[in-house]
Amino acid sequence: MTARIEDITRQLLSEIGENPNREGLLETPRRVAKMYAELLDGYNLDPKSIFKCFKSDDYDGMVVVSNIDFYSLCEHHLLPFYGKIHIGYIPDKKVLGLSKFARLVGIFSHRLQLQERLTKQIAETIQKNLRTKGVIVYCKAKHLCMSMRGVKNGSSQMRTLIKTGVFNKDKSLVMQFMHQVDTSSEAKSHEGI
Ligand SMILES: [Zn+2]
Repeated sequence: MTARIEDITRQLLSEIGENPNREGLLETPRRVAKMYAELLDGYNLDPKSIFKCFKSDDYDGMVVVSNIDFYSLCEHHLLPFYGKIHIGYIPDKKVLGLSKFARLVGIFSHRLQLQERLTKQIAETIQKNLRTKGVIVYCKAKHLCMSMRGVKNGSSQMRTLIKTGVFNKDKSLVMQFMHQVDTSSEAKSHEGI
C-alpha cells in the first residue's frame, strides 16, 4: 500500500502543477504515505480488544472521563477535524481503566470519519462491551473543511451528543454530566477548544 500511495502522491503533485522532482518535494510522497499509515491505523485495530474490565465493587455513581483529545480525518474532504470527547457512564458491576477510553477514541478517530458516526461508535462500543446502565458521549470539534474552504467560518464548532440507557430516561443525569464537562472544560479553556 505504501508504494502505491507514494506513486499516487507523485501523480497528485504533477496534476496540481507542481514538479515532483524539485528538491523540496522529493521526499514528500514518502512522508505522505507514512502519514496516512499512521493517521489511518485504526482500521487494523479491534476496539473490542481494549475491554479488559474489572469489578466496580459497590460504586454505582456516574463515571466521567472528560477532555479526551482527538484528531480525525473527515471522509468528505480528507481534511482534519479535531477537538475533545467527553464520556460518561453509570457502571453495572464493571468499570474500565481510564487510559482505555483514550485508546478507544484513538482507534475510531484513526479512520475516515464523520463526527456523528465517531460519537455514535464510541457510545455503542462502550454500551456493548462494558454493559453499563447507560452511556453518554459528547464531542465538540473544529472541522478544517469548514475553516479553510468556502464560507471560511473559522471559529464555528460542531457538537454531537449520543446517549443510551438511563441517560435517555433521566434528564438530571444528563445535566449532571454536562455540568462536570463544563467545569473541566473551563479549567482547560486556555487551550482554545
Ligand atoms: Zn469535511
